[in-house]
Amino acid sequence: MSFVVAIDGPAGSGKGTITKLVGERLGLLNIDTGATFRCVTLAMLKQNIKIDETEKIKKLLETIKIELERKGEEQKVWLNGEDVSVQIREKAVNDFVSPVSTLKIVREKLLELQRNIAQGKNVIMEGRDIGTTVFPDANVKIYLDATPEERAKRRVLQNIEKGIPTTYHEALENVKARDKMDSERELAPLKRAEDAIYIDSTRMTIPEVVEKICHMIERAK
Ligand code: C5P
Repeated sequence: MSFVVAIDGPAGSGKGTITKLVGERLGLLNIDTGATFRCVTLAMLKQNIKIDETEKIKKLLETIKIELERKGEEQKVWLNGEDVSVQIREKAVNDFVSPVSTLKIVREKLLELQRNIAQGKNVIMEGRDIGTTVFPDANVKIYLDATPEERAKRRVLQNIEKGIPTTYHEALENVKARDKMDSERELAPLKRAEDAIYIDSTRMTIPEVVEKICHMIERAK
């Protein structure tokens, strides 16, 4: 039987970093569901498909191939055979991904994909609706949070590392806009599952958060 850890939370709350470190330490496959929404968004941008062009989106979803690969320290993301690990973090995708994520056909397709990737494995999966929708019976559920200002600061540093220039103002505006859209959308909104443990990481270091989560998982095993 598989073991599932669900980590949900808003943009820039540290989910990516924490999930990777906890996964490595406990031998859990790390699945970044945000990357799958970013791939669909990038594919739409590449083909110049607008948000209301339902037929075109349907067609795109029929053939789209998204692969998540862990290569040592790195997480690689492939879209139709192309390495898009950096492209999916760029501003154009950041600005368009939340509207795309409100679409029912996109969510249905990706829900199936996310469940398939996790099938029969021990995983740590991060996103917005993992504990509420993708795996409502997950063994451990965590809701990771931080203030918008702290999250914007982290995003700027992360993007600098990836070679994507971003100002603090730009990051803060994007974080706030995505928070609003992700939590107010009708389908699978960003929400803390009733049985999720809440962690505010604003004043915590990365090792402190990792330690706390690893401890919770060990207890649940
Ligand atoms: O986690 P990340 O910031 O990469 O996610 C990008 C976007 O994908 C989010 O802002 C949200 O709109 C969408 N998303 C989602 N459900 C998930 C993961 C991400 O709607 N499980």
